[in-house]
Amino acid sequence: MAERPYIVGNWKMFGTRAMLSEARAIDRAAQRYMKVEVAVAPPYTLIHAVHKEAEQIGVGAQDCHPGAEGAHTGDINATMVADAGAKFVILGHSERRQDHGETNKLINEKIESALEAGLRVILCCGESLETRDAGEAEVFVLRQLKSALGAFDDPAERLTIAYEPIWAIGTGRTATTDDIAAMHGAIRKLLDQTFGEEASAKVRILYGGSVKPDNAREILSTAEVGGALVGGASLTAESFLGIVVAASESDEV
Ligand code: PEP
Repeated sequence: MAERPYIVGNWKMFGTRAMLSEARAIDRAAQRYMKVEVAVAPPYTLIHAVHKEAEQIGVGAQDCHPGAEGAHTGDINATMVADAGAKFVILGHSERRQDHGETNKLINEKIESALEAGLRVILCCGESLETRDAGEAEVFVLRQLKSALGAFDDPAERLTIAYEPIWAIGTGRTATTDDIAAMHGAIRKLLDQTFGEEASAKVRILYGGSVKPDNAREILSTAEVGGALVGGASLTAESFLGIVVAASESDEV
């Protein structure tokens, strides 16, 4: 795969300023693994502080409101996260879809606003266990993506996909490498059809769902896996860096 592997930590709703030492440790160690692109998405409250610590790693947001500034108490838009130092935003995470009822339509509006603010987008997709058991995982995931890809004129610069089967997030269960290869292959085909093979080849498809230092090597060596979106194991520098090291040594990426 042409692009560097991309390992992104999603801190979710974890972290106070005490976590800045972890960010610093991740950043300093990442300087030894230049073959890997490393980033973290802390909660909004830490974006600026992590950005100030970061010499090597990318910093992003976990979500953004789709609108311009206005009377939306408690919301934070794409321009604001960019101003705080974010270079990318994670959109369409299943926890947002589930906890906040986010629809593909709303996610598209968020994508538009993120691109307008100059952010890169990590677009999440993934099926429930029910959908997988019904044999509809691929159709479901491709439908989620098809509804969003039209917004990207410049996918090579702006788009990363994260395939995260919902049943594997935070559960300790991971998809088999055969299942991951099949889904990533189907996503790649869709990207080829949508953008052409040359532009598609520059879009990394991350896997997410209970990636840990001890399973990272196998997952990251799977066909079409261009990196990982990591939740729980990104909360300490020690475990997150175990995944970065695996990425620096894996064959596929
Ligand atoms: C995630 O939230 O994107 C994720 C993959 O979480 P975990 O690694 O904890 O399963």
